[in-house]
Amino acid sequence: MLLYNTLTRTRDELVPHEDGKIRMYTCGPTVYHFAHIGNLRTYMMEDVLEKALRYLGYDVTRAMNITDVGHLTSDADEGEDKMVKGAKREHKTVLEIAKQYTDAFFADCEKLHIKKPDVVVPATSEISEFIRVIERLIETGYAYEAGGNIYFDTSKPKQYNVFHDFGEEDLEEGVREGVGVDSNKRNKTDFVLWFTKSKFEDQELKWESPFGLGYPGWHIECSCISMKYLGEYLDLHCGGVDNIFPHHTNEIAQSEAYLGHPWCGAWFHVAHLNTASGKMSKSKGEFLTLSLLESKGYDPLAYRFFCLQSHYRKSLVFTYENLDNAAGAYAKLVARIAALDSDGEYDEAGAKPYLDAFRSALENDLNTSLAVTAVYDVLKAPLNGKTKRDLIAKFDTVLSLGLLEAAEKVKEKEAPKADDPRRAEIEKMIAARAEAKKQKNYAEADRIRAELSAMGVTLTDTKDGTTYTIA
Ligand code: AMP
Ligand code: ZN
Repeated sequence: MLLYNTLTRTRDELVPHEDGKIRMYTCGPTVYHFAHIGNLRTYMMEDVLEKALRYLGYDVTRAMNITDVGHLTSDADEGEDKMVKGAKREHKTVLEIAKQYTDAFFADCEKLHIKKPDVVVPATSEISEFIRVIERLIETGYAYEAGGNIYFDTSKPKQYNVFHDFGEEDLEEGVREGVGVDSNKRNKTDFVLWFTKSKFEDQELKWESPFGLGYPGWHIECSCISMKYLGEYLDLHCGGVDNIFPHHTNEIAQSEAYLGHPWCGAWFHVAHLNTASGKMSKSKGEFLTLSLLESKGYDPLAYRFFCLQSHYRKSLVFTYENLDNAAGAYAKLVARIAALDSDGEYDEAGAKPYLDAFRSALENDLNTSLAVTAVYDVLKAPLNGKTKRDLIAKFDTVLSLGLLEAAEKVKEKEAPKADDPRRAEIEKMIAARAEAKKQKNYAEADRIRAELSAMGVTLTDTKDGTTYTIA
């Protein structure tokens, strides 16, 4: 598979480092609030990536952390601890908040058909591992104590700014985002591995350590969890583009300092979902969650369809109009699949070009929009119903749009019409409408549609004809 690699800035062939296995790590959610649909876009694209790899024959093991401690509101070690902030907001303990939003996150994932990674580890369950790694970094001179905190010395690695994306100015900006520059730091880009001297006297979760009672910084958790569960060579690391700096830059610095060799060769980053007015936010404007979309009547899988229509490296603008278009297209696609019969034997030779096209879409930097197009091409293909259905089922092991299940539901909904005494009349009217459309008599076609609608009949036009439901 060819994947764009943020580290090399080229599309690289993904090659396992050893024993043919792909060890894949994804940065998990900070569980202080609901995930917004932008966060969920990233998890969805990572999910498609994992499924695509498996489809293409790779043997994948995937791990993800849950950030339940140490992530401050500014990535540059400034501002409030996000978990403490969430607990205060809801008058709950940090652990209650973590549980509530971890559960909410996985509930959203289930609705979006995002598979749970093989290994999921909350940061608070690995504190002793973080301490062990930090101790080693101190011993080897990569970390130092200042003002009670332990910092990583970013002047020590041969190269710190590995993604090259960020000039000196941007690096400063990462630091400037917060309230002020931490005067304990030897270099502007140094970051905290362990906090003891915190301005948050009310920090709820603290642990004993050789460096004093305190809690870990945010970046150390991903390095430690990845190294512990996936070993000292990682094949693929994923996250949203905002993670490139400082989070992933810092992960690389500390992991390679600890290991003494290169750590991860391929970095996959998903571009952001934005609103028409800019950055998606949990505090400003409408807080766009999956539950909000559901409360407005959207099927979560229509949102998945919306995301899959765009390439993961392109930023995507969310508007209700865009989502409406995607939801309409998704419903039509499902209706076309529902209209398929299951006739014939699976036609292996006939199926091959369609399988090849789907595979090539995935292999070519995870081109999900072409992969979706492959489904439409199957529907148009001169193939029997059984072959079309089998192909769509195969593609959907990656796309996870629930296409055949949704089509079954449409059919079930249509089933009662078999007993409806008005069936013959309705179908006659539908045929008359089709004829009117053929004659370009759209006024007549609309009149018939309105008459049917008054009878409680809803029509869906597809390329393969018109289906209907009766209220
Ligand atoms: P967080 O819970 O804030 O740690 O973020 C979870 C994931 O969502 C990370 O991989 C972020 O990079 C990603 N992310 C944050 N904002 C957006 C956005 N607007 N669109 C897509 N992904 C995002
Ligand atoms: Zn991470």
